[in-house]
Amino acid sequence: MKQINLEGIHVITSIRFQKCIFRRLGRSLALSVLTLVVAALSATCAIADEPPRPNVVILFADDLGYGDLGCYGATGYETPHLDQLAADGMPFTDFYVSAAGCSPSRVSLLTGCYPLRAGGGGGSAYSQSGLSPDEITLAEVLRDAGYRTACFGKWHLGWSPDMLPTGQGFDQYFGLPYSIDMWPFHPQRPDTYPDLPLMRDTEVVALNSDPRLLTRQYTEEAVKFIRQNRQSRFFLYLPYSLPHVPLFASKKFQDTTERGLYGDVISEIDWSAGQIVAALKSAGIHQKTLVIFSSDNGPWLSYGTHGGSAGPLREGKGTTFEGGMREPGIMCWPGKIPAGSVCSEVAATIDLLPTIAKLAGTRPPTDRIIDGKDIWPLMSGQPGAKSPHEAYCYYGGRDLQAIRSGRWKLHFPHAYRSQDLTNIPTDGTPVEYVFPRIGQSLFDLENDIGETTNVADEHPEVVKRLTKLADEFREDLGDGATNHPGKNIRPPGRR
Ligand code: MG
Repeated sequence: MKQINLEGIHVITSIRFQKCIFRRLGRSLALSVLTLVVAALSATCAIADEPPRPNVVILFADDLGYGDLGCYGATGYETPHLDQLAADGMPFTDFYVSAAGCSPSRVSLLTGCYPLRAGGGGGSAYSQSGLSPDEITLAEVLRDAGYRTACFGKWHLGWSPDMLPTGQGFDQYFGLPYSIDMWPFHPQRPDTYPDLPLMRDTEVVALNSDPRLLTRQYTEEAVKFIRQNRQSRFFLYLPYSLPHVPLFASKKFQDTTERGLYGDVISEIDWSAGQIVAALKSAGIHQKTLVIFSSDNGPWLSYGTHGGSAGPLREGKGTTFEGGMREPGIMCWPGKIPAGSVCSEVAATIDLLPTIAKLAGTRPPTDRIIDGKDIWPLMSGQPGAKSPHEAYCYYGGRDLQAIRSGRWKLHFPHAYRSQDLTNIPTDGTPVEYVFPRIGQSLFDLENDIGETTNVADEHPEVVKRLTKLADEFREDLGDGATNHPGKNIRPPGRR
């Protein structure tokens, strides 16, 4: 609409200007002046071609797998609201988190950096470390650009006041400071954890509160925030505490799906996404809002039916196979992101900070390395747009375990967490892990998404190229497996 108005002004101004200027000046001089005016107005229209600064909503599930949404192949329950979000926007097929665990993955989402670059993570119940207050989060970038900011949900980046959301760029916070299983009712370690706090900003408002209500409570806070801030620009970050185990759904969703409690939990998260979109529409700001849905890491498979599904991908949470780090990634911004489109280029949560910063009319931090790239050409459906990542790395802790470039993924020798699911647990308790090893292996993800067939011998030149790219990551970010300390890493926050 803004662009149409500017074009109208362009035409009207040109006609009036033409009549006036031709009376006062000679024809040739008038034509020169007109050329300048047209150029200036064209420049104005070019600026109008840039997308307007949107509100930003990030819905971030916990341990939801690649195969856990209807639009990514889930069965046994339905996710109509998230499927609609995907249909109205662009689902990514090759969208990655940077770690197969909760905390380091969130470091990347909020800093635009690989976890090791920005301190690694922390923030569990007894951890003394977390996201350093010296890091610049997406919330800080957007708050400095005039946005109102809120986080409602699971934080898991440190629980001292300076590392909690309100110390890291969020105006408001409500939620659990870390995972939902870090409480006295843990199925395997009941004596390990203290009472689980529910927090508002930096205050504890309840201990071991009813976890069946969490998704609803986060949603209500989010809807209220949208209503209150509909006149201003805002960034809403909603990191759900579920479907991380132990699973809980509110009464309305219990026993509603064939899949059992896991399906009930996903149904409630889907309901929540529907509530958020409905609130945006009701506030008249749906067209002005970029909504993103993803999850922090893959499914926790050892929990059997209480864990999710990685669909066709190998393994799950805690591993650098695709099942651990490839996630649903849905981007929706009506009128700006082409509806009904799909992106199959490699993109990642690290890319959201630089991309959103640009859309917000600002820029990422310039005083430090940011690993993420601007993926707006992909999100906006620019013809021929390619992934900005020549290579994407997969770290397990401090160890560089794999690297992807284009269709190729090279694993370096490492042990990995797995489980024997011959007797699939159904009661919310996990089976024991086993730790097999994988040797150096090259997989063609285009033809072998499940990482089943090592084709290293057929493609030695690819192995050589990916090894060289991996060596650059080792020098830069370090690698515990080959004793590289890393030249460009920053420290974590400490209590
Ligand atoms: Mg998680």
